[in-house]
Amino acid sequence: METVLAEARAALTAKSAQLGQAPPQAIAPEEAEVPAERGALPTRSVRLTVRNPLGLHARPAARFVTTAARFASNITVQNLTRGTQAVNAKSINQVATLGVQQGHEILVTAEGPDAEEAVVALAHLVEHELVEEAPPPPPVLEGPPSATPEEAPPTGHLKGIPASQGIAIGPAYLYHPAAPEVPRRHAEDPEAEWQRLQQAIRTAKEEIQALRTRAARQAGEAEAAIFDAHLLMLEDPTLLDLARKHLFEEGLSAEAAWKEAVDHIAAEYRSLENPYQQARAADVADVGQRVLRLLTGVTVHPLRLEKPAVLIAADLTPSDTAQLDPEQVLGICTAVGGPTSHSAILARALGIPAVVGVGPAILRVPEGAEVALDGSTGDVWVEPDEELKLKLSKAHARWQAQQQAEQAAAHLEAVTTDGHRVAVVANIRGLADARLAVEHGAEGVGLLRTEFLFLERLSPPSEEEQVEVYQAIAEALGTRPLVVRTFDIGGDKPVPYISREPEANPFLGLRGIRLALARPELLKTQLRALLRAGHGHHIKIMFPMVAERRELLEARAILQEAREELEREGRPFAPEVEVGIMVEVPAAAELADALAPEVDFFSIGTNDLSQYAMAADRTNPRVAPLADALHPAILRLIHHTVEAARQAGIWVGVCGEVAGDPLAVPLLVGLGVDELSVNPPAVPAVKNTVRRLSLQSAQKLAAEALEMDSAQAVRDHVAAALQP
Ligand code: PEP
Ligand code: MG
Repeated sequence: METVLAEARAALTAKSAQLGQAPPQAIAPEEAEVPAERGALPTRSVRLTVRNPLGLHARPAARFVTTAARFASNITVQNLTRGTQAVNAKSINQVATLGVQQGHEILVTAEGPDAEEAVVALAHLVEHELVEEAPPPPPVLEGPPSATPEEAPPTGHLKGIPASQGIAIGPAYLYHPAAPEVPRRHAEDPEAEWQRLQQAIRTAKEEIQALRTRAARQAGEAEAAIFDAHLLMLEDPTLLDLARKHLFEEGLSAEAAWKEAVDHIAAEYRSLENPYQQARAADVADVGQRVLRLLTGVTVHPLRLEKPAVLIAADLTPSDTAQLDPEQVLGICTAVGGPTSHSAILARALGIPAVVGVGPAILRVPEGAEVALDGSTGDVWVEPDEELKLKLSKAHARWQAQQQAEQAAAHLEAVTTDGHRVAVVANIRGLADARLAVEHGAEGVGLLRTEFLFLERLSPPSEEEQVEVYQAIAEALGTRPLVVRTFDIGGDKPVPYISREPEANPFLGLRGIRLALARPELLKTQLRALLRAGHGHHIKIMFPMVAERRELLEARAILQEAREELEREGRPFAPEVEVGIMVEVPAAAELADALAPEVDFFSIGTNDLSQYAMAADRTNPRVAPLADALHPAILRLIHHTVEAARQAGIWVGVCGEVAGDPLAVPLLVGLGVDELSVNPPAVPAVKNTVRRLSLQSAQKLAAEALEMDSAQAVRDHVAAALQP
């Protein structure tokens, strides 16, 4: 509304000027002066004293720049106290370098059709809104109060969501994704390069916006504001003008021009005296690297830790962690994420203790400060005392000993005490995971999440590229089966170049098979690649997010077209692949009897099944307890699905995270699930749990759990039954 108001006023001002009348003055700031006429455009200036504690830094600077950006006039700001030059008030980078602190006097000058309104709005912001704005809540849950809440590093104890078991103690390593190598290359067509840069910036903004939305939901608006500053940097006219100059005047490629511009601004920050301002260089570099990664399409860049450390990050993307070395990364702690969010799944897949969803405060831990975390409870401590460290070290040693004992029997089958065999396979994202799965004794792969092949790039992988990846994974598995899920894009795994339309509720939107059917050419390419890779390998195809029979039949029709095309082209392929579906939408579980005759297997995705059945967002830590897959409501859906599979004579697996939960294993086995698909490092423990059960006792436990009324009651009941 304010923008509309400003535009309406600007139009009125222009009209008045045309008619030779004085422009209307809504509110005139006391200090407003009208200096000598500069050309035909009205010019207004105002001197202001900045009284808010943070000066024009961080959030206040972001608000100042956003307010200035609403007006068409050219607006400059000068720090009179420090005697600086006037800089562009719409540039976050330039405003931040003015070093405006509490008590400083600034001069704001606007020239243009809405100069009056601009000056009034900025004066009001500085004199009233910024001063009155309540300071954000301190970034710690416990521990001593901090002096400057927005910037102070957290101390004491913080609480997040337990994501991957184990304890870690070590120095903090703050992860800023590494920049790809960029040669100083020249390009032929500057206009095309400029378009490429614009596209990458748009995608980067969408990614940051998504991160911001999640942080705001989990930790509140004040905490999410850091991402606003990042967004503003991508709109910064100074940065964009510099890049444009390198591109059009020097003929540099989009990557090289962008890198030069970002490096220049970062160097300017680094040369400033104030440590807070110096630290902004990291923000510029962070944002700049995101764009560079998109431009270069580089998906793998190792994290180079020089010594073992606790990795702290806003969130972890698949490419960030593709080459994480578990020897060096003692633990992971992220600002966002829920227990079945993909950063949590990733940590478990790597077998690294992790706590997620701690809130952005964790990003302010000083580099190298000692951090401890317990991945089973979600506790994080900054600078823990000696007594606590000793206690944690002892617990860690016990946990490690148990892991070693389980790994010794990892390659044996999982058979209950009364002779019932359960297949234990792995959930993977790529080749590295496939190798890890084999090392941990997985009997195959129950879920390959292929959407990871589509993330962090600007165009989809080609058929050839996909064939290569699927074949390499199948070969790493030897004769073991490989269930490949077609891309499940959408929800918390958006791919901006495929689904551009913003959605209010992405988890309820065009996700999984819905998106695949809306983009049949992408699905067909993937299915062709899978049929080709299946030649000589044991590959099965699985469709995600199926809610009704029609979707499955349409997907099968595309599979048939792919077969016929390959036949006509005379390419070798596997004509008879098994086809299954994920049962992860409650509708599919209810309709399992109608779907079962159309498929060779079911795989129950409890991560989504729980969030949809319980109406509890899986990425939101505040509703995590509700989305527990051990809730009797979910157990009944699983029971119903298994019964339908039995009737139709097909096998059924569970590939949601709950399959790796020791308290869930007896229930799933008791309900008649044939296969448990878990993160690679969890395979030995799950096999071990199966070996200690009898099918008969598991069936009894499952029948009892179906009659209970809460997930907690089920957990308590199973825990009591498992006591030696
Ligand atoms: C699930 O929903 O349980 C599942 C395994 O799929 P994803 O976690 O990839 O959504
Ligand atoms: Mg799912």
